Amino acid sequence: MKTVRDYQPAEQTRKWYVRALYITISGNLLLVAIKAVVASLTGSAALYAETANSASDVVYSLLMVFGLWISQRPPDNSHPQGHSRFEPLVGLLVTFSMAFAGYQAASASISKLLAGGIAVEPGLPTLVLVITAVTKGAMYYTILQLSQKTQSPALHATAQDNLTDVMTSSAAFLGILGSYYVSPMLDPVAGLLVSAWIFKAVIGLVLENIKYITGGSADKDVVEQILHTTTSVPGVLKVHELVTEYVGPRLVVEMHVNVRGDLPLTEAHRINDEIVNKVLHNVQDVDRVYVHLEPENES
Ligand SMILES: [Zn+2]
Ligand SMILES: [Zn+2]
Repeated sequence: MKTVRDYQPAEQTRKWYVRALYITISGNLLLVAIKAVVASLTGSAALYAETANSASDVVYSLLMVFGLWISQRPPDNSHPQGHSRFEPLVGLLVTFSMAFAGYQAASASISKLLAGGIAVEPGLPTLVLVITAVTKGAMYYTILQLSQKTQSPALHATAQDNLTDVMTSSAAFLGILGSYYVSPMLDPVAGLLVSAWIFKAVIGLVLENIKYITGGSADKDVVEQILHTTTSVPGVLKVHELVTEYVGPRLVVEMHVNVRGDLPLTEAHRINDEIVNKVLHNVQDVDRVYVHLEPENES
């Protein structure tokens, strides 16, 4: 008797994860290096803070590597259904990094606001902000594509974190130009707007990942798709119970299905397998399907 699920994560998916991790780590390391060099050349205090921000991105990328490595491991005796529930944990971890960036942006802006705004002369540190925005923009775009291919909440959170950095560095850049050429107050105002945007994104990501951890339900259209797929299998009379639950980033489906009561077991079993295979094949988010077959009048 088997007590561990027979399942291997797809090789292609594993490659996508590896690519996402390489992009994240090398991108963040590159930015730390550029910022550290320019910070030491110019002595810019703001840039030292930026270097710390990028260094914290490197730390979370390493935690991400570790977490995603675990989540991609095949089922074993310790986790007989697989390790996919580690994924949303990694996703939550990434939101901490985002929340920290949001907090930093807010507190820096508030102290500048209280000081009446400070005009900053554009220079080499300003150029670093542009480089950061462009690099993070490219990282956002590629990681977002990979997160859609892998359906990974952890990679989705990472993509959002990159977008956060695009916003903060663009706002800092525009803030510096605005503070120098228009009004010193533009810099802190831009910073506050960005931190508000970050906290909104953090709340969305936290809710998404908590749904995956706590067994949230599928969207209505996904339930509709499961029902439609099942009732289209020949021999199925009706579905009288359908329960969905996210277990990690993917769904577990439980159904009670009525078939004719006088079917031989081999035929009933064939119908059961056909339902399971069709739902797994047709509905993207589904990881497992359990079907309870019942004769026509049972409920
Ligand atoms: Zn069977
Ligand atoms: Zn029933």
